[in-house]
Amino acid sequence: MKLNTKFGEFGGVYIPEMMVAAMETLENSFIKYINCFKFKKELNQLLNVFAGRPTGLYLAKNISLDLGFKVYLKREDMLHTGAHKINNALGQVLLAKYMGKKEIIAETGAGQHGVAVAAAGAFLGIPVKVFMGEKDIERQKLNVYRMKLFGAEVVSVNSGSKTLKDAVNEALRYFITNVKTCYYLIGSVVGPHPYPLIVQKFQEIIGKETKEQILAIEGKLPSAIIACVGGGSNAIGIFNEFLDDKNVNLIGVEAGGKVKKHGKTLSNGSIGIFHGSKSYVLQDKDGQIKEAYSISAGLDYPGVGPIHSFLKNLKRAVYGNATDEEAVDALKYLCKTEGILPALESSHAIAYLLKNKNNFNNNDIVVINLSGRGDKDVNQLIYADSDLYGGC
Ligand SMILES: *Cc1c(COP(=O)(O)O)cnc(C)c1O
Repeated sequence: MKLNTKFGEFGGVYIPEMMVAAMETLENSFIKYINCFKFKKELNQLLNVFAGRPTGLYLAKNISLDLGFKVYLKREDMLHTGAHKINNALGQVLLAKYMGKKEIIAETGAGQHGVAVAAAGAFLGIPVKVFMGEKDIERQKLNVYRMKLFGAEVVSVNSGSKTLKDAVNEALRYFITNVKTCYYLIGSVVGPHPYPLIVQKFQEIIGKETKEQILAIEGKLPSAIIACVGGGSNAIGIFNEFLDDKNVNLIGVEAGGKVKKHGKTLSNGSIGIFHGSKSYVLQDKDGQIKEAYSISAGLDYPGVGPIHSFLKNLKRAVYGNATDEEAVDALKYLCKTEGILPALESSHAIAYLLKNKNNFNNNDIVVINLSGRGDKDVNQLIYADSDLYGGC
């Protein structure tokens, strides 16, 4: 059996020849274990016992009252390490173990992916090396320390702009030289085939649970599902189970940044090759990748998973955006109305709902994927927001 390497014209395998054999081995192992009863059972147990699945889906009654239609929250923020990233980290660390790998490597910008992989590696007893730009190490001290507490080695990368894209290059170099023993763990539905499919598979559980839960509570499907999009893993994780339910509107929300030219890969980008696959990407006319910018580090990525480019062109999903300011306002709104502190990333989805509330009526049911919790963002909020300094 072989998997499709593409989503329409998007995706593919744009990689150095030295990586081709490794990607084929990865694909074959993925197909083998994802269909293996023992693997599936063990992963399920990990998700339940270690990560805290299933996560809740419940009616946010204060928001619903305020907006005049039903709003449900899928609580991925309740997971261990604070976000949906642990679903994928556990899946791939387990896959690496089944493949007999001796070491996991990952790259991280904000550090959230690194933390999830470090925790999964500690629990499953496999060493983890995380490549991180020197600048990001400085900016994300808390997450760097968390990774170290979990026993991971954090490798500082001081080439180029000293940020995520340089960490990716360094991780690739290390991977190519240690290809037999080393597993490269990618954190979103990006990168060359088969990574987008692997990460999607390990995040599908979000939508599967959501469908079961909403049918049990409401007896019908929601009218819309809204999720934030960085690389796109939490969004496709919740969308996937509903792709064939044409009456469910699927809405992805990208970071709009501070000014008009910031962010918004799917609305402002053009088709290009980035990190091993073809998708929409922020690039200049020569194909050089532009830096993304967002207040939320998890959405600060100039590319997007090929599945989202495909769904956009098919018009099966629509993609909007929210600015930094709208996201911060939405974060505060959720805190005050529901007593929940969402991640800045997830706050973009809430902001979209608030901006577009007039598009919904009292028969509508909207599900928001709350991809993560905001404890990690509190320091940044204190500095960004002098008004909170003076007390709420
Ligand atoms: C990393 C992150 C995201 C963005 O990643 P996706 O792959 O687009 O889901 C969103 N929310 C949170 C809380 C994150 O940590």
